[in-house]
Amino acid sequence: MAADVRVDVDVEAYRQRVRSFIAERGHRMDQEGVRVPRDAAEEQAIRGWLRALYDAGYLGGGWPPEWGGRAEHQPVHDLVVMEELIRGDAYRPLDQVMLAAHAVTAFGTDKQKRELLPRIRAGEHVWCQLFSEPEAGSDLAALRTRAEPDPDGEAFTVTGQKIWSTDAQWSDMGLLLARTDPSVERHAGITAFVVPMGLPGVDVRPIREMTGHAEFCEVFLDGVRLGREHVLGEVNGGWKVVTSGLASERAFVGANAIQLERLFQDLVLLARTARHPDGTAALDHEDIQARLAAALTRVEEVRLIVRDTVERILVGGEHPSDGPVAKLAYTETNVALSELAMEIIASAEYIDDDGARVADRWQHNFLWGRALTISGGASEIMRGLIGRQLLGLPRA
Ligand SMILES: Cc1cc2nc3c(=O)[nH]c(=O)nc-3n(C[C@H](O)[C@H](O)[C@H](O)COP(=O)(O)OP(=O)(O)OC[C@H]3O[C@@H](n4cnc5c(N)ncnc54)[C@H](O)[C@@H]3O)c2cc1C
Repeated sequence: MAADVRVDVDVEAYRQRVRSFIAERGHRMDQEGVRVPRDAAEEQAIRGWLRALYDAGYLGGGWPPEWGGRAEHQPVHDLVVMEELIRGDAYRPLDQVMLAAHAVTAFGTDKQKRELLPRIRAGEHVWCQLFSEPEAGSDLAALRTRAEPDPDGEAFTVTGQKIWSTDAQWSDMGLLLARTDPSVERHAGITAFVVPMGLPGVDVRPIREMTGHAEFCEVFLDGVRLGREHVLGEVNGGWKVVTSGLASERAFVGANAIQLERLFQDLVLLARTARHPDGTAALDHEDIQARLAAALTRVEEVRLIVRDTVERILVGGEHPSDGPVAKLAYTETNVALSELAMEIIASAEYIDDDGARVADRWQHNFLWGRALTISGGASEIMRGLIGRQLLGLPRA
């Protein structure tokens, strides 16, 4: 049985330091899932905040020491930082930047590391992920964007379309997957590239979502010229780069349990302020109390699932289905809480001003929460993985 890392005194002291740092300097977010800066001033503030986190060692602590990592760093520190960022409503480091940092650290040449890693630490380079395409999402290996090598193999011409590229509209760099050899097995013919987003031929078009915000984009690549120095890892070795990067995100999955606990508190607040036609609060009604109790049970179950998962991840002993179980549990519970919130709002005769602010948050979360059941592997894909890896079911 793994030790419960959460009660470690040193970890608690670390948590307190991180919490104070975020309270003093954190860049606050208004709404969950909204992270593209509204204007140049906010962009500067976010980049400054990311830099502050790296400077303080709260990000990048696990990098190799020559690139700024710290000897005293433990994997649990990353989890604590992520939990405290959520708790403090602070701007969270971009998943894409962390994934890119991992990919460059693991697969980059010395020159790439020298050029790219310090710029990530300085908040100078924000990255996006150019993976998904209109016909390649869950089945990413179906991607069709071509990076045609020159006859001498020293440069490539990239043509194709990417979609759902989060943050592409303000990213400096993109981690691109493109097909370099269509003649071999499809996973074997893909290469990862580092793409400066300002190159000629890169056209970024934000997509407006049902939340009213535009957090991700279509990216068209039309004859973009990339040199050998833009290849990350080996030519035709891109699949290894992606799969290794995605594994690096696992430790953060646990931080989401904090988010659910906060959402549940917001749900109770909503039920307290939403008034029925007879003047009673929704919270006074037994049916709502029962629904809230069921919701709390679910939140608590997710907390326990996630805690076990994190403990196994931190000691390197996780089961392959741990990540899918935690992701499915968190994202689907998030949707269930939003649906209950919508029912409470719909049944209310009136909600006071404080309650209206909470209701606004829930309406946003109702729309945004669905996205989490798709990004990073859709729920159906997670269920398939769990069925095969945990339950030993045959592939359909
Ligand atoms: C908020 C958000 C941010 C994102 N950010 C990025 C980003 O920065 N960069 C990037 O490259 N991509 C990004 N994506 C895209 C994301 O990776 C894809 O949406 C995801 O992989 C699903 O692919 P798809 O949308 O093409 O849907 P599809 O793969 O077409 O799936 C459609 C439906 O079919 C189901 N389905 C598909 N295959 C199976 C199967 N084998 N068994 C059962 N059901 C199946 C799916 O579960 C889903 O319900 C983002 C998506 C979201 C929602």
